[in-house]
Amino acid sequence: MTKTLAVNAGSSSMKWQMYEMPEEKVLAKGLIERIGLKDSITTVKFGDQKEERVLDIENHTQAVHILLDDLKRFHIVEEFSEITGVGHRVVAGGELFKKSTVVTPEVLQQVKELSALAPLHNPANAAGIEAFMNLLPDATSVVVFDTAFHTTMPEKAYRYPLPKKYYTENGVRKYGAHGTSHDYVSKEAAKLLGKPIEETKIITAHIGNGASITAVKAGKSVDTSMGFTPLAGVMMGTRTGEMDPSVFPYLIANDSELKDAQDVVDMMNKKSGLLGVSGISSDMREIIDAKDTNADAKLAFEMYVDRIQKFIGQYLAVLNGADALVFTAGVGENSVPVREAVLAGLTWFGIEIDPAKNVFGVEGEISTPSSRVKVYVIPTDEELVIARDVETLKVK
Ligand code: ADP
Repeated sequence: MTKTLAVNAGSSSMKWQMYEMPEEKVLAKGLIERIGLKDSITTVKFGDQKEERVLDIENHTQAVHILLDDLKRFHIVEEFSEITGVGHRVVAGGELFKKSTVVTPEVLQQVKELSALAPLHNPANAAGIEAFMNLLPDATSVVVFDTAFHTTMPEKAYRYPLPKKYYTENGVRKYGAHGTSHDYVSKEAAKLLGKPIEETKIITAHIGNGASITAVKAGKSVDTSMGFTPLAGVMMGTRTGEMDPSVFPYLIANDSELKDAQDVVDMMNKKSGLLGVSGISSDMREIIDAKDTNADAKLAFEMYVDRIQKFIGQYLAVLNGADALVFTAGVGENSVPVREAVLAGLTWFGIEIDPAKNVFGVEGEISTPSSRVKVYVIPTDEELVIARDVETLKVK
């Protein structure tokens, strides 16, 4: 029995979960928010207990210090040597990392160099890795990439129809995201189908604040909706998804607030999607509450559903049919109206939903026995995938 930490470090936050392995038992979890800002908040949950404290945490190293002290203070560990592995989620692994990897100084350097592909995320991920390596030098550190699952995409899917040199010289291609989630839920779906994964065709819809849809054939990603960055694909909480790039120069020339391409990208990342169209919120719950009385909220809901349907339609074509469609993440797992509206437009494909099963809190099948494509709700568990990869790669 050993203890493994799964860590998801963002630019100003650090989410963590502590497991007993190989039992896969969650011992504790927590979140440190507002790192580098005033009044940082650290939350620790274990058993029925929850503690929240407001402190000033200057950087990731200090955040890790506080987290480790908390683990001792709550007797989640007695000695730091009990923590034998730390797994880190890293957003961009480029073409270099096709699977999870033990961190060496060279790997850490490569993660930093890949920051060009994820300027907000990779530097934060690297800061988290360094902080843990300094404080837990004997634990095995492992990096788990959001992009790794998508490195199996064929070139026809990952290349953009641009002059070749932008791919060969600049690395401009589709990389995708949410790989650990698509990997996990497609494997769970194969279990529910009762078939070896090699014989399955599955479409996975990870719809949370960020959202992506993936076509999975024989357990491998063959296409995914996110692109060079997580701005592409379906409409999201605050992100546009698919756009015509001609809008960029047009807006820069015609809108006084948008001075350059970065301004437009920031607007498309942070002020668009559900939030931008509705003018109310990026949270699907608030959109649903408002949509019967507010025309903009209604439109936001309809556009959101429309984009998801279109990508599912594309991937039914890419896979030439599918055995299963999976809904996961915040909206996919919890929103009955979103699932209902998405599936209502897909009946031509033989997809039939059972309204008695499509209820709040459901897990597993929500389609009818005669549905040509099985529809499943499967809660994602990215932290567990990270902990499992650490366990597999750990120096025993
Ligand atoms: P992230 O991409 O940040 O990991 P999550 O997968 O946790 O996001 O999803 C968060 C989103 O899930 C919230 O912004 C909210 O829109 C949505 N959500 C959560 N619960 C519900 C619900 N009951 N109905 C509709 N949407 C929900």
